[in-house]
Amino acid sequence: MKQEVTKNISTENGANEFQVRLLKDDGVGLLTTKNDENYLVLDSIDYWYDLIQNEYPKKKKCSCKNEWFYVTFNYIPRQGTDDIREVKILTTCTVCNKVSKPISIDIDYSPTKELIENPITFCEKPNIKYKFQELTSYWSGDNLKDFLKFIFHDLKLNVYCWFSQHPEHKRRFERVSFDKAMQIITVNHRYLNFFFSANELETSNYIEFTDSNGVYLKEGIWRRDEIIELTAPFVILGYGLLYYIKFCNQYLDKGNVKDKSEQFEIITTKLKKWLEEKFVTKRGMNCFDGQEAYDKYIAKRNAER
Ligand SMILES: [Zn+2]
Repeated sequence: MKQEVTKNISTENGANEFQVRLLKDDGVGLLTTKNDENYLVLDSIDYWYDLIQNEYPKKKKCSCKNEWFYVTFNYIPRQGTDDIREVKILTTCTVCNKVSKPISIDIDYSPTKELIENPITFCEKPNIKYKFQELTSYWSGDNLKDFLKFIFHDLKLNVYCWFSQHPEHKRRFERVSFDKAMQIITVNHRYLNFFFSANELETSNYIEFTDSNGVYLKEGIWRRDEIIELTAPFVILGYGLLYYIKFCNQYLDKGNVKDKSEQFEIITTKLKKWLEEKFVTKRGMNCFDGQEAYDKYIAKRNAER
């Protein structure tokens, strides 16, 4: 794609006036027609369901109070490729014609042809609640070690890691021992995620593809299977290292909520209880910070105010 493409959004039935719910920071959105049919912006069904578990996004309202909009997508090309770099979403009020500031969604994958052919995706039940947990933690290195000790020695889970090691720098995905896990988080390794499971995993089932850099895992392997994910830390400049723990005790199967096993519920309950007892929960719901890391976070936050 060499030039910007503009697309006026309408459904297969020709509806082109929508109520709009956009989660700007997360790059997802939902459009609702006058027949009460729902469409996701682009294709973000799993992500959408995760985001709405705590709060359902509010309908956009024009300054004239109208809630209905025409929607336009501008596709910005990635230079030198056939791909799209960014989709800008514009809304136009159907009453006063006011055009909104565009909301930008960055596209970091390829190919992207599908996004132009199918800019919106029908979503039968956009508001499904299921037992999904995303926990966040500011941790020191010692906090992370304690967490892994608990996973290995108390919960006795199998631990898998997606990582690469010096000097080969090839991504691999394999089961790791406690010693190996300690090595991965401390010396000369780069890791992407840890995964914890009571059952032994057939690692090849989770590989999306392999190239010269090694293996790439499928997205969200903890959704359907009984797996807990711990992400590698995000460096939040000045605030510290932020870790995400994700799991769900139910999963969505074609829009139906299904339960995972009782055993998995017991494991994840123990995990949360341990986090609650050991860490500081003052930052907000589902936050479990190390004391030192929390103090640093607060000091930085207060300095910025
Ligand atoms: Zn208006």
